[in-house]
Amino acid sequence: MDSARTGEWSAGFISPAGERPRGPLRGWYLEREFEIDDSVVEATIRATALGVYELRVNGRPAGDQVMAPGWTNYDKRLLFQTCDVTSLLRPGVNRLVGHVGPGWYKGVLAWGIRRRNRFGDRVALSLELRLRFADGRERRILTDADWTSRPSPVRSSGIYSGEVWDARLEQGGSGPGLSRRYQSRGVKVLPPPAAVPIPQDGPLIRRQEVLPVREVLTDPSGRTVLDFGRLLTGRVRFRVTGCRGDRAVLRHAEVLDRHGGFYTKNLRRARQKITYILKGGDKERYEPCFTFQGFRYIQLSKWPGPVNPEDFEAVVIHSDLRATGTFRCSNELLNRLHENIRWSMKGNFLDIPTDCPQRDERLGWTGDAQAFIGTAVYLADVGPFFRKWLRDLASEQRDDGGVPHVIPDVISNPGRGGRPPGRNPFHSSAGWSDAAVICPWELYMAYGDLSILEENYPAASAWVDYVEKRAGSNRIWNGDFQYGDWLALDEKPGAVFSATPTDLVATAFFARSAELTARMAGLLGRKDDSRRYRQLHESISAAFRSHYLDAGGHLTARTQSAQVITLAFGLVRGEARDVVASDLVELIESAGRQLTTGFLATVYLLGVLDDIGRPDLAWALLVRTEYPSWLYPITLGATTVWERWDGIRPDGRFSSWTMNSFNHYAYGAVGRDLYAMVAGIRPAEAGYRRIILRPRPGGGLSFAEASLETRHGLIRSAWKISDGEMHLSVTVPEGTTAAVIRPLPGGRSLDNEELEVGPGDHSWTYAYREDPK
Ligand code: BGC
Repeated sequence: MDSARTGEWSAGFISPAGERPRGPLRGWYLEREFEIDDSVVEATIRATALGVYELRVNGRPAGDQVMAPGWTNYDKRLLFQTCDVTSLLRPGVNRLVGHVGPGWYKGVLAWGIRRRNRFGDRVALSLELRLRFADGRERRILTDADWTSRPSPVRSSGIYSGEVWDARLEQGGSGPGLSRRYQSRGVKVLPPPAAVPIPQDGPLIRRQEVLPVREVLTDPSGRTVLDFGRLLTGRVRFRVTGCRGDRAVLRHAEVLDRHGGFYTKNLRRARQKITYILKGGDKERYEPCFTFQGFRYIQLSKWPGPVNPEDFEAVVIHSDLRATGTFRCSNELLNRLHENIRWSMKGNFLDIPTDCPQRDERLGWTGDAQAFIGTAVYLADVGPFFRKWLRDLASEQRDDGGVPHVIPDVISNPGRGGRPPGRNPFHSSAGWSDAAVICPWELYMAYGDLSILEENYPAASAWVDYVEKRAGSNRIWNGDFQYGDWLALDEKPGAVFSATPTDLVATAFFARSAELTARMAGLLGRKDDSRRYRQLHESISAAFRSHYLDAGGHLTARTQSAQVITLAFGLVRGEARDVVASDLVELIESAGRQLTTGFLATVYLLGVLDDIGRPDLAWALLVRTEYPSWLYPITLGATTVWERWDGIRPDGRFSSWTMNSFNHYAYGAVGRDLYAMVAGIRPAEAGYRRIILRPRPGGGLSFAEASLETRHGLIRSAWKISDGEMHLSVTVPEGTTAAVIRPLPGGRSLDNEELEVGPGDHSWTYAYREDPK
């Protein structure tokens, strides 16, 4: 019987005897030797840590995951990883070494409050090595009081700060001039933590690819800067030669300023600095252990000897994700946009979905995750990744149903002795905490797996119940702290809060979540709940209309965002819908065909324009290259999605430094439109057993094609316009049917009825001419 699955975990949590609770944030080795003969047929390790860990057996790495056990609220969910080490053992004496660093457990987290020791003040390792012998016997080696510990060469390590590796410590206390404190000591066995370790329940973080240096530059300070050609998340692996005690110091940056200067101000207090102290002699190699950086450039602040670019490579790390979507079209900038969105996903899917990978944040912001998930499900199989994070979310949900802004929650609950940074209650904001409903819903629609809804229904319904109480009997949710349509462009320059009233946004999301929860309840056979949430949805929608529409049926809030959210969530119908739709068009036209939407409304902007019969306007926004637009950053060489529309302004200056990430995926939510609008691939039924294929040519493109690997097989949709003809071809997987809506110019379709097609390849050619004006 698998002991860990029964809720037992017998290995001790061993902490280095020399560690001081508020001492340096450093690395430790925890080790032991054991003897075996040649009859071991199988050897497996299950391990976890309070901190982050790596394992070595006889000097060779056990497993290829990095930053294990990842990030959860360790008090509630502690995951263990399993790896087969049979091939690493040898008859005779074997050596098992765990290397543990502070990571998210004990390191500094969150901005402003700069808290450390959030989850505890001692790192620890806990593992079980299970040996199976040829005669069927088993032996277990557990972490216990017999292990020893010593400081590792990681003299300091932090998620934000980077790492200092002192290679002189690699030989333990025997090196010349090193103090006794580096010598081996015992361990302290900690009381077992509150959470019993459970098996890893999401994809592992691994090294995914390696990029060479693209260019060697010199910055205005005269220092060497290496350019890896694109913004990425990971770390630099390098080789260096020099004398004992020499230092190699690498700093990491996302961008250079307009004078070619190495720009680190937007990292705020994240130092992103790697220091390697040489032991001297032959070429030494290093890759940081317990940290990662968001960067495209590194500056060699110190480097012994000449710089050889071949000695450096950027190692990209993220959670394992199987790519499922491809997109290609005749507009090269849109192809780049698609790539940039994919890279922002890679850069921010590191065990949890983060806002950014570089500054002193890197947190599981719920708003960003719910904005992006509709795109993520096209790009990759993100089911297992989000399932894990939604478990984290459920584990962090408050007793009253409130949902923190970030998961794991290090803000409203900053831990022992901490104080939340903002206003109270500093949790539960519309469009952020709605991740509890929107994320499971998007996963269900993409993958058709009802168990996702089953598992997440309690959190989703508790969230809606919470908002119902906060909103009170008039159904208008006001009075609490809200982010609103964050970073929209309708306020004064540089503002983070938008001009759209936050209570309008909050009430609209309340309606949306009530509606989705009603649908979930219906699918799960919870009839009473379904009826109750449907009624709730209706009463919120009615309240919304009477509160936010004027006598003429116009929204009193004259912003693009207000119109978009109202239309996207179906809060107005019939003639009222036409009024809001024409107001939206008017607002976009009068802004010079520019968008002004922020994190929340941008998700729906193009889809809404398409739905109201203005795909031309959706296209105009999509292919626009001037600021503000999705393609503007690409004209400036962006390789990921920016946090702000004006991260770098047309005059080359940066937008504010306080919040200016160049790798933030929220506006990458337009990725969904590339698949669902441009190529027209959407689920007609959850999981794509029935498919809608409704491509929407436009924007001056001559072709576009996309494919999506679903659980039924590959869906493909491709269109090409040449010599006044449309060539449309689609692939429909076995066991599915598709409704094909063949496009004509101006958002019209060839037939009034959808064409029902079965599995296989289908193609059509027909006349396709713009109407004479
Ligand atoms: C983060 C966001 C997040 C926001 C909250 C920022 O600092 O980077 O992406 O959603 O705060 O409004």
